[in-house]
Amino acid sequence: MSARTSIWITGDQCSMKNTALKSADKSNSVVLMIESVKRGNQIQYHKKKLVLIYSVMRHFALELEEAGWKVDYYKEYPDFADAVKKHFDKHKTQKLLIMEQSEYGANERLQKLIPKDIEVEITAHCNFISTKEEFEKLHKSKDSRVTMENFYHVMRKKTNLLMDGADPVGGSWNYDKSNRLPPDKDFKWKEIKRFEPDQITKDVIKMVDKHFANHPGSTDNFMYAVTREDAVLAAKDFIKYRLNEFGPHQDAMLEGKPFLNHSILSPYINTCLLHPLELARKAEEEYREGRAQLSSVEGFIRQLIGWREFVWRVYWRLMPEYKERNELFAEHKVPEFFWTGKTKMHCMQDSLKTTIDNGYAHHIVRLMLLGNFSLIAGLSPLAVNEWFTQMFVDGYDWVMVPNVIGMTLHADGGYVGTKPYAASANYINKMSDYCKKCHYDQKLATGEKACPFNTLYWDFLIRNEGKFKSNHRMAMMMKNLAGKPDHWRAEIDKQARTIMRNINKI
Ligand SMILES: Cc1cc2nc3c(=O)[nH]c(=O)nc-3n(C[C@H](O)[C@H](O)[C@H](O)COP(=O)(O)OP(=O)(O)OC[C@H]3O[C@@H](n4cnc5c(N)ncnc54)[C@H](O)[C@@H]3O)c2cc1C
Ligand code: SF4
Repeated sequence: MSARTSIWITGDQCSMKNTALKSADKSNSVVLMIESVKRGNQIQYHKKKLVLIYSVMRHFALELEEAGWKVDYYKEYPDFADAVKKHFDKHKTQKLLIMEQSEYGANERLQKLIPKDIEVEITAHCNFISTKEEFEKLHKSKDSRVTMENFYHVMRKKTNLLMDGADPVGGSWNYDKSNRLPPDKDFKWKEIKRFEPDQITKDVIKMVDKHFANHPGSTDNFMYAVTREDAVLAAKDFIKYRLNEFGPHQDAMLEGKPFLNHSILSPYINTCLLHPLELARKAEEEYREGRAQLSSVEGFIRQLIGWREFVWRVYWRLMPEYKERNELFAEHKVPEFFWTGKTKMHCMQDSLKTTIDNGYAHHIVRLMLLGNFSLIAGLSPLAVNEWFTQMFVDGYDWVMVPNVIGMTLHADGGYVGTKPYAASANYINKMSDYCKKCHYDQKLATGEKACPFNTLYWDFLIRNEGKFKSNHRMAMMMKNLAGKPDHWRAEIDKQARTIMRNINKI
């Protein structure tokens, strides 16, 4: 008897917990998986991201077959449309199950490819723990805003993570204040777990080098996990060796040390190899059994069930117009050195190099270096969003848009963050070891040796003075600016214009 139901699984849905799989009858279904070269070329994705996705898909297809599923897999196929047609011609199924896509508009785009006589059922995403209703309930009106912190409390209560009855463990919801230590040069950072490519990944590497040769990055030294089994090993390694120290130096940046104590689990969570709740529960266990400090465990859990859930809900509440927002009227192009790393700014050079090498930078490098530069230089939000989406192995529209347009560039007028994360060299010098080896002088804002972060920071405040002066969270910054004389402002303006005219030479 021919299979009667198809289940389409896309590259970021490779989990046995996939709800479309869960609602199907194995004996009467066929799983459809397609590697579309056209989709891979839609954006100039980093080569390591393409290797990750295609290799995860190929390994997952084998895992499905081992578990008794019938799989119809289209390798290195030109386009989704041809493969879909071939699939339905071949299998004559009458129904398609597909788990909801994480990108706005993608459900509709995929449905357009399905023959009209096929019944399509979209099932709920398996890798989020909140509901739309829980988020909506917190909004007083259509236009009101909700903070991540409030939503996070709801998620803590819902999951009972780090709760003592109705109260948060230790008496506080958030221990971020203990988590902002500068880098400790004597600290022995534990290396992250790396995975040698197997034959399947080696074949994918060849395929990526053939079809996507002009994309950024390289396939060399690919070290990410591509199966659930290895992703679980990566998570265990983080929990055993780095979770306890995750918190204190979470915001630190060190030359040549791209990972520090961050988990590097986002590539696996975003492809559904790992579930955020299983990680949060493991982390809680470490605290309860005395193996990890509360500030680190709470910080990690907040990222997973606070920030991650919050940005997912913000995205679905405010798209599609959210992506187009540009409240600060930023229009500059992304400079060429974002793709090459060739700049005299030592902090940018090092963080761009690690991004180009690994498709990864940790949160503070993304926010306070790459993002901060983009913010204060007035780079176009859409262009910056595209650059981040290209360069990061964990980059997907749902998570990129709120983090870039909202949190980083403040282009949403303050929905995700109440103040822009603009900072001068003072912050970078405090939180990193970059400045002492730099061509520029971190103390200067004007003159030949002035640090571009300083000039652009003050220029950013001057340009947006009218907007920010009523923002109480920016009171200190605006007070500092108010004390500056006119001739100083004119010098900043002149130097900022020179920087922007010669942006690829700085
Ligand atoms: C400009 C910018 C772009 C970003 N782009 C992405 C992206 O494309 N994909 C992505 O997953 N995250 C993105 N983030 C959020 C965050 O930086 C990454 O999730 C994190 O750095 C991933 O590394 P990690 O796994 O080592 O995280 P850890 O620091 O170990 O954190 C643990 C987990 O918490 C979650 N998390 C933490 N912060 C956030 C956040 N702000 N939003 C959503 N989830 C979060 C992730 O799943 C992460 O794996 C971005 C942040 C900024 C400022
Ligand atoms: S001086 Fe400026 S450009 Fe150089 S490392 Fe410090 S912050 Fe970066």
